[in-house]
Amino acid sequence: MNAPADTFDYIVVGAGSAGCVLANRLTASGRHRVLLLEAGGHDRHLWIHIPLGYGKLFADARVNWLYSSEPEPELNNRSIIQPRGKVLGGSSSINGLLYLRGQHEDYDHWRQLGNTGWSFEDVLPYFRRSEHQERGEDALHGVGGPLAISNVCEPHPLCEAFIESAQQAGFPRNDDFNGATQEGAGYFQLTAKNGRRWSTAVGYLREARRRRNLTLVTDALASRILFEGRRAIGVEYRHGGATRIAHASGEVILAGGAFNSPQLLQLSGIGPGDLLRRFGIDVVADMPGVGADLQDHLQIRMQYRCTEPITMNDVVHSWRHRVQAGLRYALLRKGLLAIGAGYAGGFFRTSAQVATPDVQVHFIIFSADTAGAGLHTFPGFIASICQLRPESRGFVHIKSADPTRPPAIQPRYLSSGLDRDTVLAGLKLLRRIMVQPPMQRYIAEERAPGPQVTSDADLLAFARAAGTTVFHPTSTCRMGGDAKAVVDERLRVRGIGNLRVVDASIMPTVVSGNTNAAVVMIAEKGADMILQDASAPALHAAE
Ligand SMILES: Cc1cc2nc3c(=O)[nH]c(=O)nc-3n(C[C@H](O)[C@H](O)[C@H](O)COP(=O)(O)OP(=O)(O)OC[C@H]3O[C@@H](n4cnc5c(N)ncnc54)[C@H](O)[C@@H]3O)c2cc1C
Repeated sequence: MNAPADTFDYIVVGAGSAGCVLANRLTASGRHRVLLLEAGGHDRHLWIHIPLGYGKLFADARVNWLYSSEPEPELNNRSIIQPRGKVLGGSSSINGLLYLRGQHEDYDHWRQLGNTGWSFEDVLPYFRRSEHQERGEDALHGVGGPLAISNVCEPHPLCEAFIESAQQAGFPRNDDFNGATQEGAGYFQLTAKNGRRWSTAVGYLREARRRRNLTLVTDALASRILFEGRRAIGVEYRHGGATRIAHASGEVILAGGAFNSPQLLQLSGIGPGDLLRRFGIDVVADMPGVGADLQDHLQIRMQYRCTEPITMNDVVHSWRHRVQAGLRYALLRKGLLAIGAGYAGGFFRTSAQVATPDVQVHFIIFSADTAGAGLHTFPGFIASICQLRPESRGFVHIKSADPTRPPAIQPRYLSSGLDRDTVLAGLKLLRRIMVQPPMQRYIAEERAPGPQVTSDADLLAFARAAGTTVFHPTSTCRMGGDAKAVVDERLRVRGIGNLRVVDASIMPTVVSGNTNAAVVMIAEKGADMILQDASAPALHAAE
């Protein structure tokens, strides 16, 4: 007998970085019917596909959840913007495109924490499988995968000066941050192809949408997971003004990201019991770890006025340069429109005591007062530092039983002493690079924090006043074997049947780099686990 039309083998909630990968891999054999629910719409917005356009998407409610944090105590009680993609491709459709995997040691650390199957050696095949690396194949890189990775098209004099200055300050040059070692200064690679963004909606979902066993519903907000006892059996969602129900004969897989996956679990009765009862939600499982352990990278941006009109500010504010840049992009897919959030950058150790880089620099050839704001009218650029392995831990908690209301997001940036010390050391390290002759040639003025800011106290005050997210929230449904962990090493919600979380929220600790590549890897591996467990149910049940 055929299954009813609203019954699927798998229901995936969220068509973001992870969800699009899952939709592709789970439908590939043709044997499984998959429902993919996405709260946002189609990725037709022009600026999604032009890399530079990411700056226009920070505040665009058509593609972005536009979250904000609660007032942050260590950042002068400022609320910090928390953009998240609400569109096919999720945050991979609005992010800065930088392709960075983190450090090998990040994954070996996950393994050390007890997560079998997550050492670097274990996850490398999934990075390689996902990748179509423009530079070709080698032991660490793959070709032929769905995620196109390309070089920044042309060297830029400011980036060259930054890289040379880093070398003169004693750091190595690094031409592949995803290679054998991460340390050093160099150019970033982008998830892009021929100057176009390569989100997971483009790389993975486009192909999957041609398959008849995938049902994609956009503008569909999952409002509740349905349970029979402690087993997930379906999802309730809102679509076109109606509340609908879909059943899963196999599994429900949450891929809503680090804010929305814990929110949906909590709305569905899985989370801290006290919190759920406060909002009249029946508790299915009292799990204090759901929404706990939020981690994020805080970035502190130093701003410079440039001695020469060679920055993106100068292009944007001159119609002649704009036309030239537009034509170059239209004809050759090159030039400033083809670059992402950072052009060059680096990974550095703030002291000889740390074994691997503990700060990252994003070197950006334009300047603005805040992310997404208009560019300055004078030549300017930015170099930011962020601490790679913060100790501060925050949370995501529902503020209402209404699924349309945003949750409370509280990263608690700089709440750990180590984080404050590292940020301080990072700012000093960045200045050490910027005073080298190649960079000095281009610096008319350090605008922020400014030369008068020299003491530790003043530098830290600057970090508190200017620090903001670099958009890498993770770990709110952390994988692990301890009592607070939410998913096990096969990404199954502990103690609940037929329910997994597969997205940024499962990272035991945030990786030492930008997070999209790691999420794609997690989803590649998660898809394999789901398919393996489906074909070996007896083994699965016995575990
Ligand atoms: C502005 C910005 C810049 C960034 N820059 C970079 C960068 O340069 N390089 C990098 O590596 N990383 C970057 N990141 C981070 C990276 O993009 C994210 O870590 C990654 O995309 C997260 O993937 P995810 O699958 O966990 O969540 P997402 O990609 O955010 O996907 C979640 C999806 O689920 C949907 N959803 C959520 N709740 C529901 C619900 N209840 N019902 C239905 N659908 C739902 C959302 O609409 C979304 O489409 C950036 C992120 C942002 C926001």
